[in-house]
Amino acid sequence: MAEFDVESLFRSLDTDRANVVWKWKLLEELGQAGLRADDPRVERAVSSTVDSDTPFEPGQPEWLDFEQFREVVREPVIWRALQGQLSMRPDEFAEFTQGVERIYAELLDERSGEVAQYIPTLRNADPERFGIAVCTGDGQVFQIGDATVGFSVQSTSKPFSYAMALEQLGAADVHRWVGQEQSGGTFNDPRLSLDAAGKPQNPMINAGAMATLALVEPDLDVSERFAKVEQTWARMMGAPPGFDHRTFLAERDTGHGNRGLANLMAAKDMLNVDPKDRDAPQKAAEFYFAVCSLEVDAQRLAAAGATLANGGVAPYSGERVFSQETAGRVLSVMGHSGMYNDSGQFAGQVGLPAKSGVSGNVMLVVPEKRLAVVTFSPRLDEAGNSVRGVEVCKRLVNEFGLHPYQSLGAEREVARLAFGGVTRPGGGRAGQHNAAAPATASVTRAGELQL
Ligand code: GLU
Repeated sequence: MAEFDVESLFRSLDTDRANVVWKWKLLEELGQAGLRADDPRVERAVSSTVDSDTPFEPGQPEWLDFEQFREVVREPVIWRALQGQLSMRPDEFAEFTQGVERIYAELLDERSGEVAQYIPTLRNADPERFGIAVCTGDGQVFQIGDATVGFSVQSTSKPFSYAMALEQLGAADVHRWVGQEQSGGTFNDPRLSLDAAGKPQNPMINAGAMATLALVEPDLDVSERFAKVEQTWARMMGAPPGFDHRTFLAERDTGHGNRGLANLMAAKDMLNVDPKDRDAPQKAAEFYFAVCSLEVDAQRLAAAGATLANGGVAPYSGERVFSQETAGRVLSVMGHSGMYNDSGQFAGQVGLPAKSGVSGNVMLVVPEKRLAVVTFSPRLDEAGNSVRGVEVCKRLVNEFGLHPYQSLGAEREVARLAFGGVTRPGGGRAGQHNAAAPATASVTRAGELQL
């Protein structure tokens, strides 16, 4: 980076003209760009300026001189954040997160639906919980409400199990064991889950998830296989998942349907297990129950979603976890089959890839903006999707013109004016804050689009 640029950046942040930049000022600036002070990259860069020989004294001035500042901005994400070059520009990110905040407030009174009843941990979940987390491919984050309350990931593990199988075997081999068609049925319907050959319709239904997990490190001991799954989650989220033992035990005790599906697949040689081990289908089902019982929260799950939105690269570490092809394939299947038997309706209304789990989570991916939104609210609709979660998706898409097909042409142009800062023909940037702009009124019209 050019020295001159660093210097002018330093000057622009040295508001007191004291030849220093206050750390709070730098962190505030990064916060506006969407990076949190506890982002590992920010923490690492800022703490690297602390002289370890000098004992920390409370109240000591927290500033960076030019040399220290230059060290800190060597961290690429900080440099890009200060240049407004992250996945979303600071104004765009602020506008989007304000929308999230408003929708959150509007939906607090939405109490329809019922929490999942089939196991005690879900039956006893606090129905009032509600949290939303946003994460972009560069790790810009926003959260509101119960975004750090833990829940079992349940079916939202399925896209990632599919991704792991794709990474290991490649698409051609994976799809010998599992299809990629919309099932149209419920997630566990034994009649509709498998085709005539015993092959599950897709990796988003239970049979398909068991089939893909059976392809993940099949030669290792089950505990090592599970460790591989946990490690993949940790790489995406920048923090390890937890494990909900009670949910696992209850899933195992009540999962007769899933065990039945595993048996049916094994009977047709459509489950990658040892044919001579008569307990192998049961073990495959248990592995699936364990993965469903991984514990995450909206904030961490949003980072996993952002990994998909980012073409397979984890947001905080910049590490490639999946290939671009894998991420694309996973999102495609989520796009048509991620929301149980309301997937078609959801595709019509929202048009973006999403996956939900019966604990009340919904993970929505917005590829165009390289971002993921995760909601957590345990009351479910009849299809098993979180009522508030689905509503958040609909409202966000409506408000920001994110449906890839609904806002084509003129409507899309209007929506883009408010979100994405398209340059107007006459020059200058249009934005929602420009009250006089005719775009604002039109956006309201687009926002009222009845889907
Ligand atoms: N683990 C549950 C099951 O397999 C449900 C998973 C879900 O749909 O979220 O029956």
